[in-house]
Amino acid sequence: MTPINADLHCHSTTSDGTLTPEELAARARANGVELWALTDHDEVGGQQRAMAAAQAQGMGYLTGVEISVTFADETVHIVGLGFDPESSDLVEGLVDTRDGRGPRAREMSEQLAKVGIEGAYEGALKYVGNPRLISRTHFARFLVESGVCRDTGDVFRRYLTEGKPGFVPHRWAKLGDAVRWITGAGGMAVIAHPARYKFTPTEEYALFTEFKALGGRGVEVVTGSHTAQEAVRYAGMAREFGLAASRGSDFHSPGESHIDLGRLPPLPADLTPVWTVLQERVH
Ligand code: AMP
Ligand code: MN
Ligand code: MN
Ligand code: MN
Repeated sequence: MTPINADLHCHSTTSDGTLTPEELAARARANGVELWALTDHDEVGGQQRAMAAAQAQGMGYLTGVEISVTFADETVHIVGLGFDPESSDLVEGLVDTRDGRGPRAREMSEQLAKVGIEGAYEGALKYVGNPRLISRTHFARFLVESGVCRDTGDVFRRYLTEGKPGFVPHRWAKLGDAVRWITGAGGMAVIAHPARYKFTPTEEYALFTEFKALGGRGVEVVTGSHTAQEAVRYAGMAREFGLAASRGSDFHSPGESHIDLGRLPPLPADLTPVWTVLQERVH
């Protein structure tokens, strides 16, 4: 039996993607996606549109979100799938998580001004639908369009990351809160792109152990942010910790993302896909 083509991680204009939920749904369908989730950063405002668009395209839909968390002084992303998007604990938790973005963005802009890049806050704002969701991606678009950097990779190598101008350390949600908001709303919490964090082996072990103890149940194994070797490594972690496995492109934009919607290798056959566990939550 061929596995279904599920893509459970991507971003729309509601957060830092450049396509609308409807454009993403059409693109996903054209690429053969059968089960889809839109996972905007810290925001569920696009969920109704995404669900309607998925239905119009004949795809299954799981509600989605990607929550920014601080764990061991590092930013970790927790994807939520199959939750009730109207849960007040979740919605209020996300409002609090988003609240820090405005002041952080102004500080980022001040730092960039000190190295000669003026007007970055105003510049980044032009790329954001909702100013409360201003992110490093929007600054990256400004830095590329204004000719300061060649592409987004160049931006994150030279600016906006630890030790570089424009990096402002930030406290996001607590791991326990993010997992509780998702599971309390009937959904499943999933560790996003685990290979992207700069953890020591001990810290990574602590993340998986605490996540599991808090009720987290899944990990992204096949993602646009993992190499083939990293997928093998986190398939091993899924087995070791008894976690279901997820698959998602993390698609943001046709010009910026290397991996398109639905264009990913399958999950290793022995793992339990998150969508098997979430069958009853598929719309
Ligand atoms: P923020 O939530 O404001 O810290 O922004 C994080 C977002 O920046 C991520 O969701 C990615 O979309 C983008 N990002 C972070 N690091 C990189 C990178 N090295 N290359 C491209 N995009 C990145
Ligand atoms: Mn992003
Ligand atoms: Mn992420
Ligand atoms: Mn993402």
